[in-house]
Amino acid sequence: KIKLRLENRSLDHLRAPVICVLGHVDTGKTKLLDKLRCTNVQKSEAGGITQQIGATNVPIDVLRELTKIVRPPKGSQPFKIKIPGLLIMDTPGHEHFRLMRSRGSSLCDLAILVVDIMHGVEPQTVESIKLLQDRGTPFIVALNKIDRLFEWQSNPQKDFWDLLKMQKDHTKVEFEQRLSSAKLQLSEQGLNTKMYYEYSDPKEYSWIVPTSAITGDGIANLIATVVKYNQEIQPEKITFSEELEATVLEVKQTIGHGITIDVILKNGSLKIGDTIVLPGSKGRPIVTQIRALLLPKPNRELRIKTEYAEPKNIKGCQGVKIVAKGLKSAISGSSFLVARCQNEIEILKDLSQEKEILGCIQCEKH
Ligand code: GDP
Repeated sequence: KIKLRLENRSLDHLRAPVICVLGHVDTGKTKLLDKLRCTNVQKSEAGGITQQIGATNVPIDVLRELTKIVRPPKGSQPFKIKIPGLLIMDTPGHEHFRLMRSRGSSLCDLAILVVDIMHGVEPQTVESIKLLQDRGTPFIVALNKIDRLFEWQSNPQKDFWDLLKMQKDHTKVEFEQRLSSAKLQLSEQGLNTKMYYEYSDPKEYSWIVPTSAITGDGIANLIATVVKYNQEIQPEKITFSEELEATVLEVKQTIGHGITIDVILKNGSLKIGDTIVLPGSKGRPIVTQIRALLLPKPNRELRIKTEYAEPKNIKGCQGVKIVAKGLKSAISGSSFLVARCQNEIEILKDLSQEKEILGCIQCEKH
């Protein structure tokens, strides 16, 4: 009974981690994102996946389904998912990192760095590593395009380890050679790496998962590794907290609602009527009340714009569009606060503007 209660508690308290994908152009970031978000899975199979603002929520049931072929290492317990889901940012690339105005802060709890196994480390791989290290964002390397190895035999229904064992000898040799070469190039960038199944100390080693975003090989292992990393290596980082952590992704016109902000609410909750205080571009903080919270309606075709659901309140971790007056001078990448009483407004105004100025100075330095 106690065990059951503890399990329930962890499920209740862990929030969905925010996942971003980045890497060099043409390495397969977009294709990989499509696979992770099940964009091309039959609607009936992708039950529960919800398109949010700027991100897609892949819930626990779907994660279980996607990772059911993953075999636990010998002697280990079967793999068990404890997080409620993954919040996968929709657009790949550096933007999310550049967007964050203060150094050392990252919207992303864990990143996937995509490297093309045929090309190894490329200029934007190096740039991405620097950006991730600068932000203190942990990452997993997806060594993508393994289907391009000579005579690779694909089977996305198999655990990667079993699939590799099945390959012809010369394909295995080519895999090992290209893996070693990528590892060497990464080490030249100061990055020690190990294969994901070794579960080496993540403080010393970044984990590599070989994948094919086209055939789906290794995708189950990649998802399992992302889940495992979050719930086992950094559970405290993804524990839900009531303290508000919200980032403005975009400031934009929404038909029928005027200028709105797209926000990732990582922690805490928001409700209609809340007074939010956020930095403004002209050095004047914005103080405004939330008029509506907009979420895309569930069970609609992904990527197709539809009307919104309008919940009265929401809890992190989610993407949401906020409707309020006076948002024109809001700034992408800034974070905001909620004032619970009149006295707090003045304090938060100073605080938000200070944070913004600090962010700008640090951005310029960066
Ligand atoms: P991005 O620029 O990193 O977003 O790369 P894309 O996802 O647009 O992919 C670039 C090209 O590589 C496209 O032609 C994809 O079809 C192809 N591609 C992506 N992933 C794979 C893969 O795993 N295997 C193979 N063979 N091609 C891939």
